[in-house]
Amino acid sequence: MSGHVEDYEVLNVIGTGSFGTCYKVRKKSNGRLYVWKAIGYGGMSEEKKQLLVSEVNLLSGLQHPNIVQYFDRIIHKETATLYIVMEWCKGRDLATLINKCKKSSSFLDEGFIWRVLYQMCRALQECHWKVPNVTILHRDIKPANVFLDEAGNVKLGDFGLARILDNDASFAHTLVGTPYYMSPEVIKGGKYNKKSDIWSLGCLIYELCSLSPPFTGPNIKHLSVRIEEGKNHRQNVTLAG
Ligand code: ADP
Ligand code: MG
Repeated sequence: MSGHVEDYEVLNVIGTGSFGTCYKVRKKSNGRLYVWKAIGYGGMSEEKKQLLVSEVNLLSGLQHPNIVQYFDRIIHKETATLYIVMEWCKGRDLATLINKCKKSSSFLDEGFIWRVLYQMCRALQECHWKVPNVTILHRDIKPANVFLDEAGNVKLGDFGLARILDNDASFAHTLVGTPYYMSPEVIKGGKYNKKSDIWSLGCLIYELCSLSPPFTGPNIKHLSVRIEEGKNHRQNVTLAG
């Protein structure tokens, strides 16, 4: 399916991330609300554009209650923009929730954190194992990419795109923000794999419990040393082994 920009009414900007800006939009034909992410592809090579389109096609095949549903993609040639239309997650994202807790000096309910862990495992199981011989990796698990619906269920968003959009995503070439959840093998220049997603999930759960990431540092260099050594910055205790 590939729609047209005219099919939608743009309501407001939700926020801007590393790769594009998210808008709340309404589909004219059914009145439903969606989010679209506008990604400029003007500077991309032909090869990368193809990869982006094929990845978005792959994502549209992912259907799971714990994964943000993709609906449509629109290619607007005039402005060299790709719009990815997806489910609008009304609830907050986990980054907002963590900040709220920090401000009010309160912790999250343990039962809630267990539920996030369980539902995130279900989401990752779906993309890692669903299609035979195809592994969809998330590659950017972080609080800002995990949403909650009205019932408090988890929806994992922003699948796979990080791979293409951050092409030579070596550690030095880092996105906006600090990669607190980056796994040791990725820091060492190894291949991103299923386990790297699981590592990030572990970091996410840690942060939900303690309201700060398991590894921090004043800069990326320090952070990567701490991750590689498995050292907790605060107590300087060894987490691994
Ligand atoms: P990032 O994840 O790097 O913060 P994004 O471009 O993915 O940046 O998202 C920008 C903003 O839009 C964020 O505040 C995010 O919470 C919000 N957002 C992204 N996708 C959705 C969605 N499907 N439903 C509701 N809000 C969303
Ligand atoms: Mg995001």
